[in-house]
Amino acid sequence: MGNATKTTRINRTITVDFQDKATYWHLLSDGHAFVEFVVAFLLALGFQLSHKATCPGGGGCLTRHSHYARVRLGGLTIWRIQCTACKAVFTVLPHCVLRYRCMGPAVARQALLATHGGLSLAWCAVMCNISPMALYRLICALGHQSVVTVLTRCQLPLPGYLLADEKHSHCLTDRVYLPTLVSGRVLWHLGYSASKSAAAFTASYGDFQRAALQVEPSYCVRGALTDGFDSTTQVGVSAPVRQGLRSKFHTLLHRCRQRTSLRVVALGQRLRHFADYIATTVGADHGERVRHWFQNKKAGWYTVLADPRMPAMSTLLDQAHNAIDRKLFMMKGFHHPSGSQAVFLTGLAHLYNLIPYQRRALHAGQCGVEVEGGCLPTHDWMLNLQILTSGGFR
Ligand SMILES: [Zn+2]
Repeated sequence: MGNATKTTRINRTITVDFQDKATYWHLLSDGHAFVEFVVAFLLALGFQLSHKATCPGGGGCLTRHSHYARVRLGGLTIWRIQCTACKAVFTVLPHCVLRYRCMGPAVARQALLATHGGLSLAWCAVMCNISPMALYRLICALGHQSVVTVLTRCQLPLPGYLLADEKHSHCLTDRVYLPTLVSGRVLWHLGYSASKSAAAFTASYGDFQRAALQVEPSYCVRGALTDGFDSTTQVGVSAPVRQGLRSKFHTLLHRCRQRTSLRVVALGQRLRHFADYIATTVGADHGERVRHWFQNKKAGWYTVLADPRMPAMSTLLDQAHNAIDRKLFMMKGFHHPSGSQAVFLTGLAHLYNLIPYQRRALHAGQCGVEVEGGCLPTHDWMLNLQILTSGGFR
């Protein structure tokens, strides 16, 4: 404390795929070949290193800078390379090493896969012979890069159309909310909020907006479908009644969407009928509340019906939510109020986007990013995770 000149160290670590350990050992003895290999790898990826702001255009020339030994990895030598123009130093981690971790990628791969599959952190840790806290920290380490950063590194365009909803969850005994943005099979935002207020959700979605604007200053969402019938919890209809109404309501929206002509007129008519139906079956005051709720939401639904590219069904969002919910339920013991929930959840979002679907699933062997048309650095999801969440890229 009291050190006014304290600067935060920028993480300029990059993971490089050296194919096998023998190649890496071989290159360690030849500085020139080492730098050439790294440069060729970066060219193939198409990523730019994060030089200092003062670096002249072109990024200067890379040279071998210094090395250190990882004692915990049996004295493995790690090289640093430096830009001759701006003096920025990049740590080059070979594919067989995780940043700051003594855990090898093979162990991490098993543990992350089991976590993603819904096994508790504690059980994953037992199976892989690591501490649950080490696994928790590993997921947090991945979560330091934002979802937008990682997805745009996969060349996915920023989403024009989004599904947005807040998943209700628990942090020990507190109710918490996870504001979520989904486009197709990819999670673009998974936030954390202890407050249910619209302001808190707006702030969380604002994180996505800010990250997106950094990538593309002119970015704006063309359409977002927010909540379905579930948000009628505030309307005061009891849960079982709401469930019944929910399916009726979804059928109503779906039918209107299928009618290409007169869709908008049909929706207005049907909403009125639906509110009347609630008034007669559940009670006049409920009918009035639902009518009021329709008034607030109608504009959004009209947008859905008017633009055929708008996602009308929230199935994929529900799937994402269920997958995340299973994991949060399984990590109860680590879900403590002073934990780094936002970072942990971002880590989980990366797993959701980058771990391939199982053998028997639709799109088996592909991950969400691939299904949505993104490009991945390698065929290995764990290595992709290591490379894409590296801090040394612009
Ligand atoms: Zn530079």
